Amino acid sequence: MTLIPAYAASDAGSPLVPFAIERRAPGPRDVQIEILYCGVCHTDIHQVRDEWGKGIFPMVPGHEIVGRVSATGGEVVNYEPGDMVGVGCFVDSCRQCPQCRSGQEQYCDEGMTATYNARERGSGTPTHGGYSTRIVVDEEYVLRIPEGLPPDRAAPLLCAGVTAWSPLRHFGVVAGDRVAVVGLGGLGHMAVKLAAAIGADVTVLSTSESKRDDAVALGAQDFAATGSGRVFKTHRGQFDFIIDTVSAQHDYNAYLGLLKVDGTMVLLGMPEPAALSASALVSRRRRLAGSLIGGIAETQEMLDFCAAHGIAADIELIGIDAINSAYERMLAGDVRYRFVIDMASLRGA
Ligand code: NAP
Ligand code: ZN
Ligand code: ZN
Repeated sequence: MTLIPAYAASDAGSPLVPFAIERRAPGPRDVQIEILYCGVCHTDIHQVRDEWGKGIFPMVPGHEIVGRVSATGGEVVNYEPGDMVGVGCFVDSCRQCPQCRSGQEQYCDEGMTATYNARERGSGTPTHGGYSTRIVVDEEYVLRIPEGLPPDRAAPLLCAGVTAWSPLRHFGVVAGDRVAVVGLGGLGHMAVKLAAAIGADVTVLSTSESKRDDAVALGAQDFAATGSGRVFKTHRGQFDFIIDTVSAQHDYNAYLGLLKVDGTMVLLGMPEPAALSASALVSRRRRLAGSLIGGIAETQEMLDFCAAHGIAADIELIGIDAINSAYERMLAGDVRYRFVIDMASLRGA
């Protein structure tokens, strides 16, 4: 065990402050990673403020991790020191259940072991995330960052990227489909880039009129501000697929009205529960679905797709001492489009 620097919240009401955590020495199948960058996901805010309950404190958030391998266990076959690698939202799962066997570890019957705010299988030791300088992870749960992807801009792909990618693939979105992306934040901007790269006709629906030009630059064909409510008339019944990334409570029924017959709306954002009207679904045989991040193989597929298509996140690089104000800016919708922590700021480099 080695003590390494991190940032943690001591309880749900507290800001993130400097903290020291222990990391295990690499076991036979482990990869030890010196963290270079960590993206800041809205889920970090939900969890650090214990909005979903059962939080484990002190909590070190961060599940969009990119770094360099510094050591490997004797049985590791896929990685060696010096490799640029990533770690996403989970670091373990049962490896036996149907989902684990089919590369959908995020839906593990026994529950995936989240990168932070969880307990290691077996030992029960709390897991700590990427707001730290080092992490040790079983190689089966490590991703390879392809050559050509800038490591800082690749970090958000480990959560935001794959969370947008997985439903596009699972629900079979193809070129020419009309896709609406609701909320232009970390997930939303990746959904626009990836859907546009697939060839979909993308419309951004946003509360922020000021994001119109960005939406088009990111690859959207169309943009509509949702504030006045007019869009729910002008765009009624127009979309094959809606990706809802909104982090705060809002009216799902209004957005469902924008789907065509047989259209699907997939929820990615995880605000407090909101009322659902049966008629919004029944009247056009619409579907409402949810989707949780993506599996390991799918995450690698997305990283390789991004490298091949020149796609990476649009980021604002911050020092870790700016993390609490970054959270406030995210809550105000003021992020273009992902904060990424430069971990050199924590090493004192
Ligand atoms: P983010 O960067 O903060 O973006 C959220 C966006 O939602 C904002 O930029 C804003 O876009 C919109 N928004 C915020 N408040 C709103 C309100 N009151 N009404 C309408 N729109 C509002 O967050 P993120 O990191 O993309 O995460 C988004 C959500 O997805 C969070 O709930 C997060 O926990 C969840 N998440 C889920 C998964 C999964 O596996 N399903 C994975 C990661 C994150 P506009 O300014 O364009 O309106
Ligand atoms: Zn996330
Ligand atoms: Zn499993």
